[in-house]
Amino acid sequence: MKRSTMIRDIKKNYDKKRLQAQRKHEEKMQALYESLPELEKINGQITRLGLSVSRALIAGERRQKEVLNNLRREMEALKQQKTQLLQGLGLTEKDLQVEYECADCQDRGVLENGKHCHCYQQELIVRAYAMSNLSGILEKENFKTFRLNLFSDQVPAGEPLSPRDNMIQILQQCEGYVFNFHASSSEEKANLLFYGPTGLGKTFMANCIAKGLLDQGKIVIYQTAYQLISLLEKHQFQEKQDPQTIRLLSTCDLLILDDLGTEMTNSFTNSQIFQLINTRHLEGTRTLISTNLTPKELMLRYDDRICSRLYAYYDFVKFFGEDLRWQR
Ligand SMILES: [Zn+2]
Repeated sequence: MKRSTMIRDIKKNYDKKRLQAQRKHEEKMQALYESLPELEKINGQITRLGLSVSRALIAGERRQKEVLNNLRREMEALKQQKTQLLQGLGLTEKDLQVEYECADCQDRGVLENGKHCHCYQQELIVRAYAMSNLSGILEKENFKTFRLNLFSDQVPAGEPLSPRDNMIQILQQCEGYVFNFHASSSEEKANLLFYGPTGLGKTFMANCIAKGLLDQGKIVIYQTAYQLISLLEKHQFQEKQDPQTIRLLSTCDLLILDDLGTEMTNSFTNSQIFQLINTRHLEGTRTLISTNLTPKELMLRYDDRICSRLYAYYDFVKFFGEDLRWQR
């Protein structure tokens, strides 16, 4: 699903909710009028009187002030009568109003000042989360829970800085990536490739980015390379998958392709991965790949078409240090 499709869907949903609320309200009022015809009469009078007030205002009559004062007094009297009538039933004026799910925007998603309502933003986020395959994990793995002190401050042989300093840089880069996700600066590459052995926080960092973007209402999809290939295989050779899901792989704002290199290697997987990387580049959507393979191993494993695109469009980010998994 494209973002525009999702937004259209949300709007449709608002229309439906609003209509439902209004229909329910009409039914309620009808039932109320049947048991209390007096109420309908007074409501009718109030409406007519309201019209006379605006007519008097527009006409600019000579005795406008006097006329208006009279009308207002009449209105007050009617309203009082109505309140009493309602009290008899244990009701208030509030019970006669349409019950929208969101009172602030009356289920329009948009406020009077033209801005999106809080309920709309919330809806975007909920939907994006639901599609991401990540809803559970992100509570635990995000920028706030990231612990730098897990990483050693000793510079290992052959590296220019300590794992901790490296992670500080990566953290800054990733926060910047989320923050500047809108802006497409030509200098920076739009895609990331995390590489390094397991247990160094690559997936954790990818999850941090995912949460940051999901909270902005972006569509983020997480798939391991293995899951992705079996999804595409099924789609191609067995049963057709939900076309929306397949389409989402190319069009979502960020695709996280975790553990590249753990899928089977054959001409099918190679061509699928190439197509995905290429289509996403053409669509202008962004991708985050993580892999345990070194750049050299990537070159050996994937054909030139894939590698040349990775080098051209991806920022390679190296993770190094000791495996953190046994330290937790
Ligand atoms: Zn609202």
